[in-house]
Amino acid sequence: MTVDEQDRVLRNASLLIENNVIRAIGPGPFEADQVIDARGCFVYPGLVNTHHHLYQTFTRNLPGVQKLELFAWLRALYGIWRGLNDDCVYYAALAGLGELVKYGCTTCMDHHYVFPRNGSEHFIRREFDAAEALGVRLCAARGSMSRGESEGGLPPDDLTQSVDVILRESQRLVETYHDASRFSMRTVVLAPCSPFSVTTELLKESTKLARSLGVRLHTHLGETRDETEYCLQTLGKRPLEYMGDCGWLGADVWFAHGIHFTDAELRLLADTQTGVAHCPVSNMKLASGVCRVPDMLALGVPLGLAVDGSASNDGSNLLAEIRAAYLLHRLVSSDKAPTGYELLKIATRGSARLLGRDDIGSLAVGMAADLFILDVSLLDQVGAKLDPANLPGTVGYARPAKYVIINGEVVVRDGELTTIDERFAAQKANALAMKLVNGENRRA
Ligand SMILES: [Zn+2]
Repeated sequence: MTVDEQDRVLRNASLLIENNVIRAIGPGPFEADQVIDARGCFVYPGLVNTHHHLYQTFTRNLPGVQKLELFAWLRALYGIWRGLNDDCVYYAALAGLGELVKYGCTTCMDHHYVFPRNGSEHFIRREFDAAEALGVRLCAARGSMSRGESEGGLPPDDLTQSVDVILRESQRLVETYHDASRFSMRTVVLAPCSPFSVTTELLKESTKLARSLGVRLHTHLGETRDETEYCLQTLGKRPLEYMGDCGWLGADVWFAHGIHFTDAELRLLADTQTGVAHCPVSNMKLASGVCRVPDMLALGVPLGLAVDGSASNDGSNLLAEIRAAYLLHRLVSSDKAPTGYELLKIATRGSARLLGRDDIGSLAVGMAADLFILDVSLLDQVGAKLDPANLPGTVGYARPAKYVIINGEVVVRDGELTTIDERFAAQKANALAMKLVNGENRRA
């Protein structure tokens, strides 16, 4: 399944990888030092996740918040997230990224926006450490919150930082970690959290800084009706108009969710090529609404797929997200809904585009060697082999990939992570998660 420009499906094909790049695709077989026998399997380009909060892996499945919608849910969780430390961030990232990788994701964007005042400055470094340990590409979004409760925002004041600190840290992270070269494993984007948790000054200054440094911009927008109400009452404008006035439109900007947009707003997104990260499971879980994906596809709004944070999903499985998206849109849009293959394209090429990348997202000569292999010779796929393009949407695949290759390295073999000791990591992560949830990390 190439997901290339011609949407080619090749039967009985071979694929040659040299170092980290795809060198040939064709009938084969090719001469190689190492051969993976993929008979009875389908091969797909690696999935690209365009919005996540990996730290939330430690606060998933919390009994007390399961009936809440976004604002109440956030208020309930801020108090727990206050206790985040370097180890939590590292092991939560390892857990979330590990799950993503096992199910075919090869590039993940993570939006980390909780930086407790007087807390650690190493969270983003620890995320990159986790990504490196697993061998997965990471796009780290330096999130931020600057509008606390005392200024009419949603988060408690001690989870906000000053605009100066945020901009200084953002610049430092871009200069330290952002690698704009082809096949890069590390990129950085600037990502103030949402209109109800950041100041207008931060939004405006972030666009200036991002554009001067040549990095992209990301935030939450159009997620809930509460957000629209908040913007109308506090800022005097609808969310997209407000963001537009702050400089947040353009091909270097993408928003998470994008549910509550009017027809005119969708046209504005298309005209400016501003993108949307579609997060269907989170949107269903938090009862936020349904993103107008069929309309966006018709208008040409750039679209990617994402799992959103682990606490509103409550997992990190982008392969399963394709099926959830397929079913959700079938339910609400019937024959106008995207096909399984259109959603696969959104989760690969579409997502890559949101991250500003043309070196990942399809299997073609000269592209990064990022792919996953599904064994379709087992009982749970009997009869489903007719249509590899639509399979992830229409049938789904409920077990880890047989192989996952990222940047030319085998990171999953026979469904197991090859780069870390998964049981040890899970044990350590569970112990840290319990301490966080029980409030044992809280600063005096
Ligand atoms: Zn989010």
